[in-house]
Amino acid sequence: MSPIFITSLIVSALITYIVFKPLWINHKRNKTKARPFPKEWRYILKRNIPYFYSMPADLQLQLKQHLLVFLEEKKFFGFEGIKITDEIRVTIAAQACLLLLNRKANYYPKLKSIYIYPQAFVTKHETRDEAGILQSKPRVLSGESWELGKVILSWKHSKQGAQDFDDGHNVVIHEFAHQLDQETGVANGAPFLKKNSNRCWSKVLSKEFEQLQRDARRGEDSLLDHYGATNPAEFFAVASEVFFERPKEMKKEHSKLYDQLQSFYQVNPAIW
Ligand SMILES: [Zn+2]
Repeated sequence: MSPIFITSLIVSALITYIVFKPLWINHKRNKTKARPFPKEWRYILKRNIPYFYSMPADLQLQLKQHLLVFLEEKKFFGFEGIKITDEIRVTIAAQACLLLLNRKANYYPKLKSIYIYPQAFVTKHETRDEAGILQSKPRVLSGESWELGKVILSWKHSKQGAQDFDDGHNVVIHEFAHQLDQETGVANGAPFLKKNSNRCWSKVLSKEFEQLQRDARRGEDSLLDHYGATNPAEFFAVASEVFFERPKEMKKEHSKLYDQLQSFYQVNPAIW
């Protein structure tokens, strides 16, 4: 075989792969969505996800279908003695998939694995001191989202976050909002947005972020946790928690921010 023939064979195989891969993934996902939803998983939703049955019926169905795909594609790993059960997988997937409803779901394409710890875990955080020397400090966290394929969660906090669904704190929503943000390549509080909405998004979110920074500096109470004042990426993650968990208050007190998030997430939790 001539080298030219081999090259053209490789190129055409590559083109076929690029063209057909998304279609094949879509086909596989549709088949997964059509599977019956296990009865036991329904009990888990009832027990651990109290908001589930207050959502409109079409969204309940969508969430169950997304959950089936999510659990088919993502791998869970337990650390510090925790055994991965269906309760852990379903409870976390249901919250993660909440962020995909009504949107063109790509199921967190960069994410491969979810690491579960029984409770808060310690990671090393590297910062530079005033002299520019790299310092490694331990940090206790309930969740962490990595750009390279993994999310780390405390099971205790993930379950608590789902069950107290109106306190405005939800570690799973927080970390998966980071995943959406990281899809663009850099976490900066600006995930992939609808056409022509970037300017309005950045105007509204910058203004709200600056307000939260002022509140945090003055020690004033705010609906959004002051942790959101750390940087724009944390602001988007914290605002997402409040959007899903305290939507009525957000709509009242931060209506423009609510509108932006409603347009991004394509749902209106204030009426659930
Ligand atoms: Zn964060």
